[in-house]
Amino acid sequence: MEILHSREQEQLTTFENNMKTIDPQKPVLVTGGSGYMASWIIKYLLDQGFTVHATVRSIHNRAKIQHLLDMEHRSAGTLKLFEADLLRENAFDKAMRGCELVIHTASPFRLTGVKDADEELIRPALQGVQNVFSSAYGSTTVKRIVLTSSIVALIGDTIEIADLPNKKVDENCWNTTSTISHQPYPFSKTIAEREAWTLSKQMDHFDLVVINPGLIFGPSLSKRIDSTSISLMIQILSGKFRTGVPKGAQAVVDVRDVAKAHIRAGFTPQASGRHLVAADLADFLDIARIIRKNYPNYPLPQKHVPKWLFKLIAPLLGYSRQFVERNIGYDFKFNNTYAVSDLNIRFTPFEKTVLDQVDQLANDQLIADKR
Ligand code: NAP
Repeated sequence: MEILHSREQEQLTTFENNMKTIDPQKPVLVTGGSGYMASWIIKYLLDQGFTVHATVRSIHNRAKIQHLLDMEHRSAGTLKLFEADLLRENAFDKAMRGCELVIHTASPFRLTGVKDADEELIRPALQGVQNVFSSAYGSTTVKRIVLTSSIVALIGDTIEIADLPNKKVDENCWNTTSTISHQPYPFSKTIAEREAWTLSKQMDHFDLVVINPGLIFGPSLSKRIDSTSISLMIQILSGKFRTGVPKGAQAVVDVRDVAKAHIRAGFTPQASGRHLVAADLADFLDIARIIRKNYPNYPLPQKHVPKWLFKLIAPLLGYSRQFVERNIGYDFKFNNTYAVSDLNIRFTPFEKTVLDQVDQLANDQLIADKR
């Protein structure tokens, strides 16, 4: 389905040449294989002829796995699916057998609509890390774990950036202000990543490399729309924000670049530490401006709404007033230079990211085609 551009071929060749510590003949485990971002990791690995062990919650849920099976048919690689729930002890033992590289992406990603944060976000994120590390500890083969964390493990609220030593978010930062009641998703990612670093110090026969992506956009390989990155784009297109959006740029990045960053983190022997993988800054109005160029007929937002007004209606949209107070109207600044150099990343222009995503949603008839 996807033809690699020459730039991407060149990038993938570079990481192939770097494969020194991880044996490319050995299977690679990708957890959360049916997810939006993990599906791209699996696709790139299969296209390069790897054997991929992917964990999913149910191997019988065709709606979640069919695109993976189709991808395998079109690729040079081999895919083996295993069932694993983050909350179940030893769930990853079988899938990890024979693997030298584990890419642990599975973790719930929900920004709104959370009723029980402990149950829905925190326990799966934390216990997932504990169970994956415990299986790796028990294995004789694992040499490296690449963990999908998030930029939200670096910083909790945008208001805090002005107090940082360099006034920019980078890999030296830790989110110290999110809690189970204020920003539970960032809290889940922060404690899960902290646990991973603690465990990796105790388990010295494999190392840990962490990817901290910004807000991810770009085309999906499946027709699922329940992933937050996809539902956010559908909300922008559906008119939910037609009366206006709050001012507040996010660090954004293309899903394909994040997937490649994980693979590079796995196969680049010298890769180490945390990696802030974000390309640009954009808010919903910037995204609407890009979409309007090719799709003028969607009910897209046209202006910013004042902070006081957004604060008033925020709970109706699933955001707390405290979140609005501490995040809207402040400049988000970040420094991605370490990730770019350590993982040799070249980012996709954000305009292409957005338009490719809208094209995919329209072509797959997940939204009305209003070109
Ligand atoms: P996604 O499509 O919702 O993927 C999340 C994956 O986690 C899914 O495969 C899901 O399984 C799996 N999962 C959730 N709870 C589980 C459980 N109890 N047991 C086993 N698997 C479970 O979202 P995504 O955007 O691809 O997220 C992938 C990773 O990137 C997550 O760690 C997320 O925190 C991180 N991240 C995402 C963004 C972003 O903007 N999208 C930004 C930074 C970091 P099902 O397929 O069965 O639902």
